[in-house]
Amino acid sequence: MNRVTVDREMCKECEYCLHFCPKGTILKKSTTVNKMGYYPAEAVDMTDCIACGICASVCPEGAITVEKNI
Ligand code: SF4
Ligand code: SF4
Repeated sequence: MNRVTVDREMCKECEYCLHFCPKGTILKKSTTVNKMGYYPAEAVDMTDCIACGICASVCPEGAITVEKNI
């Protein structure tokens, strides 16, 4: 299984990761705000994640870490 971790305190809710993920709905917004007042992206279901790393590459805040086959 692959793992995608979002540092919720670094996220500024730009939604790039949501839009660029080729699997569509893997990353969704949290229902609670972080310390900056943003609703951070969240990795909610890794079933379809192919660990392509696109989400991490497009994140302007460097908030996403992708780990393959852990
Ligand atoms: S690694 Fe690729 S498939 Fe997995 S959540 Fe990120 S963009 Fe989507
Ligand atoms: S790309 Fe980064 S800053 Fe933008 S919503 Fe996703 S995790 Fe947050």
